[in-house]
Amino acid sequence: MLASLFVASDALAQSQCPTLVANHADARQTINHYLCYAVTNPGEPAHLATAPDKLPGALTWRPAGGHDLVFSHTQATYWIKLTLKNTSTRQSLWYLKLNYPLLDEITFWLKRETQKGHDPAPDLITGDHTPFASRGIDYRYYLLPVTLAADEAATIYIRVHSSGALNIPLSLVTPEQAIEESNHLTLIHGLFYGALVILAIFNLLLYVSSGTRYYLLNAFNTASMAMFLFAMGGFANQYFWPENSQLSNLSIPFLLALIGLAMTLFGWSFLEVPRRTLSGKALHTLAWIGAGLLALTLVMPYTKSILINTVFVLTVIGILTVVATLRWRQGYQPAFWYLAAWAVMVVGALFYASAAFGYLGDYLAREVMMQAVVGAQVVLINYALVQRWRLLNEKLLNVEHQARSELEIKVHERTSQLRTAMYRLEQANRKFEALSLKDALTGLHNRRHMDSLLPELCLEAQRTGKPLTLALLDADHFKRINDTWGHDFGDTCLRLIADILAERVKRPRDVAVRFGGEEFALLLPDTDTDGAVRICTGILETIRTQRMNAPTGETVTVTMSAGIAEFVGHENAQELFQSADEALYTSKHRGRDTLTRARAVPQTPA
Ligand code: GH3
Ligand code: MG
Ligand code: MG
Repeated sequence: MLASLFVASDALAQSQCPTLVANHADARQTINHYLCYAVTNPGEPAHLATAPDKLPGALTWRPAGGHDLVFSHTQATYWIKLTLKNTSTRQSLWYLKLNYPLLDEITFWLKRETQKGHDPAPDLITGDHTPFASRGIDYRYYLLPVTLAADEAATIYIRVHSSGALNIPLSLVTPEQAIEESNHLTLIHGLFYGALVILAIFNLLLYVSSGTRYYLLNAFNTASMAMFLFAMGGFANQYFWPENSQLSNLSIPFLLALIGLAMTLFGWSFLEVPRRTLSGKALHTLAWIGAGLLALTLVMPYTKSILINTVFVLTVIGILTVVATLRWRQGYQPAFWYLAAWAVMVVGALFYASAAFGYLGDYLAREVMMQAVVGAQVVLINYALVQRWRLLNEKLLNVEHQARSELEIKVHERTSQLRTAMYRLEQANRKFEALSLKDALTGLHNRRHMDSLLPELCLEAQRTGKPLTLALLDADHFKRINDTWGHDFGDTCLRLIADILAERVKRPRDVAVRFGGEEFALLLPDTDTDGAVRICTGILETIRTQRMNAPTGETVTVTMSAGIAEFVGHENAQELFQSADEALYTSKHRGRDTLTRARAVPQTPA
């Protein structure tokens, strides 16, 4: 026989159901010592009884013996009997309170001692199979008002029928006590559900603004948890679907499956479990089972779905604990806080399961405890979220910092590279500029320089009236030197000639030029023909006497011929050059190693 698990054998020995003196506070506090109950199983005649007077006289009433009336899953109908007496001198009102909102059918009868014969009509027919308004008093628990005149006695009969686990926690309170208790609980529940709703909304907002999925799943998780407790506490029946007794019956197993699904999805996302790992596959399967159970709950009978879904949620909690532990061991830090939250949850779930299956008494304590556990869990989960966010932020900051310093280093490198390149370019430019006016072999000025300088010097001479002389010098029979001792030796000779020229042309404004292969020029401002003759004579002499060692070991000498032309005041650079060249030609003609003054250019009439 399925009966109370807490009914001890010594209690069974008491066959009496004592009368409770309602006006004694102490007696009211120990109501479980005055309760008697009867369990009527299907098939027994008593099972079909619809009123106390239809019960067979031989029915065995058992005393509750100070224990809560808690029954595990059963098809039986339960009868509870309580005899009360008001020994005071005035009429008083009490409430018999049944603190468990999820009972299918409950019927209360108040049979006064003075009433003989047939039972009166039931005083209250209610339960979550009937609309909420059937309770008479708008309260999530069941309240039966009991008014007893002075010295009056009465017996309360309660018939309870419900699928699933059964709690029949009864208490007898004065109206004042009922109000006080209701007030305090209202505050606690308001705080609790308010906090959960705010957290869920907050997470939803976080999701909307950041697009991060686990915020959405956390909102889902928190909301489903809140909904479950809301329904468990009888609030959902009272406020959400007071008219719909079907929904009130369906809500608990449905929300259980929803919680399992939400926990799975959130844990999966929060712990960043890769899809392909064993953990990932397990969570994936669990999520599908959760979704399947949600659908199944709509068609399955309550007794089955409540059991299956409870097992499902416990499995989810177990698997998530293992997965979180694995992730923590793998070094994923936020998993620690998640685990802490989970530890609290596991303890809570164990308490809840033991209570739901009848191993724990006192429904109120269980409800507050569940709220504490869920509250702690939700807070810890959200703390874990913050930790996860902090970790992610740190990572991002590190990456940013690294990127920035790398960028800085690169910019620095590039800048200095650029600076070096610019410096080199500038140097190259300068060199190039200089080189373009210099002769590469000898280092003297080149033809280009002469071409730009000579016209300027001519104009200057014309303007100032100061003399200007151009001397052209050409190595004699130089082809032979090349032919005999090679081009390299020829180059050496040319360099030597250049050195001698540079050495002889000392004035700052004098310019020595190599304008052809073995052809040189001296641009001599402020110098007249006589001066130029003196310089050229010296040069020719020095070159003539210079001994050079050919690669063959022989001693070689070179001579040069020169032509000197002085600017006479009206010709242009080209004409001046031509005069000098003609004079040079003359020198060659005269047998070389000599110099010739140009003939004075006749004055062209203006
Ligand atoms: P001359 O002037 O006395 O009439 O005889 P030349 O042999 O010097 O006259 P020509 O102008 O015919 O020959 C010039 C020679 O100078 C041709 C070439 O072999 C030589 N020469 C010209 N430029 C260079 C040079 O840059 N390096 C060397 N090594 N030889 C050069
Ligand atoms: Mg020549
Ligand atoms: Mg020559």
